[in-house]
Amino acid sequence: MVIADGGDSGEKIVTDRHVINLGRVRIFPDPGHDHEHCESAIMARAAAKCQQSGARLTEQRRLVLQTLARSHCSMGAYDILDKLREQGERLTPVAIYRQLDFLMDQGLVHRLSSLNAFVVCLGPEEGHGSQFLICTSCGVVAEVRNDPMDRSILDRADQAGFEITQPVVEVMGLCRHCRDQAGGDHEG
Ligand SMILES: [Zn+2]
Ligand SMILES: [Zn+2]
Ligand SMILES: [Zn+2]
Repeated sequence: MVIADGGDSGEKIVTDRHVINLGRVRIFPDPGHDHEHCESAIMARAAAKCQQSGARLTEQRRLVLQTLARSHCSMGAYDILDKLREQGERLTPVAIYRQLDFLMDQGLVHRLSSLNAFVVCLGPEEGHGSQFLICTSCGVVAEVRNDPMDRSILDRADQAGFEITQPVVEVMGLCRHCRDQAGGDHEG
């Protein structure tokens, strides 16, 4: 997933379609990448999206989003709570969940059922939040979109008379960076 400044239109999220065209290299952010850039793009997009939808990005909502935006890893609600406490922000668990609900409604955050955790959205604007590659070593989550996979799931469900309520695919594995590190001492 690549985030870049879009000049006149503000920040721009380069979507899955481009990621697929670019190859698999850019789906996972490079460990040494300029993450401050990601963070500011995420916050800028959140502000723009809320303005568009007429929703208020309150201080608590902003704090929760910002905590998640600090990395590309998923976090549980209580991890977010702890991080905010370290900053002297005292939100209750109920408040954290309420803000997360809001952020999910706005498409700014996704929930990963398999980890019972949340991750900031870096995905495409449309039809996002369906497919995730999750590194079990470093915890980085990449949001991807694969139209043929979407279609195949829809087709199968359709054939089975199955009504999809959550078309989410969560795939566990090791990211390129973690694989490189693991392969450092021994080949193969
Ligand atoms: Zn980043
Ligand atoms: Zn997304
Ligand atoms: Zn990894």
